[in-house]
Amino acid sequence: MLKKILIANRGEIAIRIIRACKELGIKTVAIYSERDSNSLHTKFADESVCVGPSSSALSYLSIPNIISVCELTGVDGVHPGYGFLAESARFAEICEENGFKFIGPSPDAIMASGDKVNAKRVAKEIGIPVIPGTAEPVKSIEEAFEIANNTGYPVIIKAALGGGGRGMRVVTNSDDLQKLFLMAKQEAKLAFGDDKIYIEKYLENPRHIEVQILAADGDAIWLGERECSIQRRHQKLIEEAPSPVVSDADRVKLGAYAVKLAKAINYSSAGTLEFLRDKQGNFYFMEINARIQVEHPVSEMVTGIDIVKEQLNIAMENKLNIKQSDVKIKGHAIECRINAEDPLNGFRPCPGKIKALYIPGGPGIRIETHIYSGYDIPPDYDSLIAKLIAYDETRPQCIKRLERALSEFLVEGIYTTVSFHQNIIKEKDFIDGNFDVNFIEEHKANWDTVKT
Ligand code: ADP
Repeated sequence: MLKKILIANRGEIAIRIIRACKELGIKTVAIYSERDSNSLHTKFADESVCVGPSSSALSYLSIPNIISVCELTGVDGVHPGYGFLAESARFAEICEENGFKFIGPSPDAIMASGDKVNAKRVAKEIGIPVIPGTAEPVKSIEEAFEIANNTGYPVIIKAALGGGGRGMRVVTNSDDLQKLFLMAKQEAKLAFGDDKIYIEKYLENPRHIEVQILAADGDAIWLGERECSIQRRHQKLIEEAPSPVVSDADRVKLGAYAVKLAKAINYSSAGTLEFLRDKQGNFYFMEINARIQVEHPVSEMVTGIDIVKEQLNIAMENKLNIKQSDVKIKGHAIECRINAEDPLNGFRPCPGKIKALYIPGGPGIRIETHIYSGYDIPPDYDSLIAKLIAYDETRPQCIKRLERALSEFLVEGIYTTVSFHQNIIKEKDFIDGNFDVNFIEEHKANWDTVKT
């Protein structure tokens, strides 16, 4: 049983987890940095404790400080949210060693997922198609040339422990390979503390499609897919469920892949398997995200399943409460990630005080946010300030609803990406479901709200 948990995170996801806990009768402890003392998650939780100065490294990423708060407040579990320590196998291990249930996968499953080369190797071994490329980290430049020649250019160099769209380099011809290989290695070392890199075929105009799973005790189910191709610099901006291009047969096939891989690495809790779909409609496994994801609400809307509550149930009972046959996908949901950024100035982050705020509502609208009127957005953290999720029976109706809600969203005092989203969803190609990961690059010249 979990009676009280600590949430090792901030912002909208901390609030999301607190809400699930309240409904399940679980007490919550929020942590915050000195910079975040006015953050809403500290007010929603039953208790809140400062864990350090504004720098994440000294607060939200400080394992000793967080474990001390667990001991002081007498919690029996820890939910890491996403980002920060969510995919740190070491943190999961330390929590468990100290008697605090880690609400997420086991340290072994986090490790098996976090190393992208390993995850791809396991997937390939059990018959899941993977993007052609290296099966092991690339050790030398000679090896890099050999792989690139075999797969054919363009290729993409990625950090084995990478994430957040960082540490990736596209190489279009052999002249650039040596330089970009060395740069990628250096960057990987700096950003992820490990210079292991790998090379795979760069797919032209793919779609990013991912599968939500829940798993426990050797069992696993899938909750449909999410379409996440609307990206800027390899980072997702709009996600939807279901995907406009995934057929019923493909959905079942992707679900079967996801369950097979989850079982192969003995995965538990909620997780996501990411795939790329090429222009011919072939799917290739890319990586596993061993955490709750930013875009989980769209899957919740179309399945009616509360994924955060399921994570808590799995942590408490070590079994799934839902059978695959209970999962029904109904309607359509689209999420816009609203950032405090100025689209007219190269998406420069725009922290600062919110002078006035109106948050949209009405039928089929869900908002996940930690902002409020008078809130001073700190410059130290991610620029995500709200997720606007629209739900309706069909995709066209859902887009109309989203358009209506975006037009109601009023944030004064800072720049946001609301206008940018308004442009995206008005594009014919978006409305027709005719897009891939290059959509924004290809359409932004049409929009008067964007300058990069
Ligand atoms: P991260 O874990 O850093 O977010 P991913 O491996 O999930 O990185 O990739 C993020 C995005 O980068 C994908 O959605 C896609 O747009 C692009 N990408 C990654 N690998 C490839 C590839 N092999 N070919 C084409 N695009 C790719």
